[in-house]
Amino acid sequence: MTMSEAIQWMGLYPEELRQALSEMGEKPFRAGQVFSWLQKGARFSEMTNLSLSLREKLASSGIDQPVTVQETRVSRLDGTKKFLFALPDGNCIEGVLMRYHYGATLCISTQVGCKMGCRFCASTLDGCVRNLTAAEMLGQVQCANRTLDGEKVHNIVLMGSGEPMDNYDQVVRFLRLVSHPEGLNIGLRHISVSTCGLVPQMLRFAQEGLPVTLSLSLHAPNDQIRRQLMPIAQRYTMNETLDACRNYIEKTGRRVVFEYALIDGVNASEACAAELAGKLRGMQCHVNLIPLNTVKERNLYGVTEEQVRAFLSALEARHISATRRREMGDDIEGACGQLRKKILQEGRP
Ligand code: SAH
Repeated sequence: MTMSEAIQWMGLYPEELRQALSEMGEKPFRAGQVFSWLQKGARFSEMTNLSLSLREKLASSGIDQPVTVQETRVSRLDGTKKFLFALPDGNCIEGVLMRYHYGATLCISTQVGCKMGCRFCASTLDGCVRNLTAAEMLGQVQCANRTLDGEKVHNIVLMGSGEPMDNYDQVVRFLRLVSHPEGLNIGLRHISVSTCGLVPQMLRFAQEGLPVTLSLSLHAPNDQIRRQLMPIAQRYTMNETLDACRNYIEKTGRRVVFEYALIDGVNASEACAAELAGKLRGMQCHVNLIPLNTVKERNLYGVTEEQVRAFLSALEARHISATRRREMGDDIEGACGQLRKKILQEGRP
């Protein structure tokens, strides 16, 4: 058995486990027990209410732990933890654990790298290596839980490396598994899925019956500016993208969050704020402002606090709900793709 053939047992739905166990000559009712052990991150050796022979059968055809922590950095500023996770095939990904007053929030990756090519983003510099499996997304949550003595991850954001809508099936599988009552049982309302705007997938996602918060990385008040920053904007216009957001709001009853990274001299003027407010008028939405994490290689620079405040006031004056997103873990390459990029550049692991 090679790593790539090994079944990642954790990624199976209960009915699929039942099928697999009955093919192995086991009693199907065992599936319930195996499922909840796996979802809670137990190793085969810890599944003490299963027979040794069943545990051995599971271990000989697959793996229990698809993700391990390779390195952890803890921010001295705010206690934010940045994980470098290792995958069975030797690839690595990042996750960030933030402690907010409303509970521990984990940011996970959905792909190794990303192919969307946003000009300001470190995750996309080397393209997309591969999709993550649902089990590899769950494994990130379990690794984080193990570091949280007693407490558990309460909120999850799919905002690490990768484009969730470009790995649609595994992301949907992950959302169903992580919210399963017999598993980690994390409320879908505590999960955010962020997309750069793959319109057909957004329309499909609205029909899944998964009431997560949809975050849309907008970053511009019009197509002209958006096209300079994000290749996806050549494919779908802002009108089509905003219509897909309106459809999501209508189908799920949830508001959409717009991510807007303020970039000096590009999208941060008060005129941009006014234009943005015009586009979002009447929508049940919220705007998250964040000063860009400067990308010198691309000549894109963040803005000052005064610029953020001016942009925020210009939106508020036009009755658009907006906040400045807190930056956490600034001293530990907290932003997406930064730690992996640094580690790859240093030639490790
Ligand atoms: N592919 C998805 C999710 C991953 S990126 C998406 O595009 O939404 C998570 C968020 O970080 C996105 O809003 C992305 O646009 C933003 N981001 C990427 N690089 C950034 C940078 N240098 N500064 C600020 N935000 C950045």
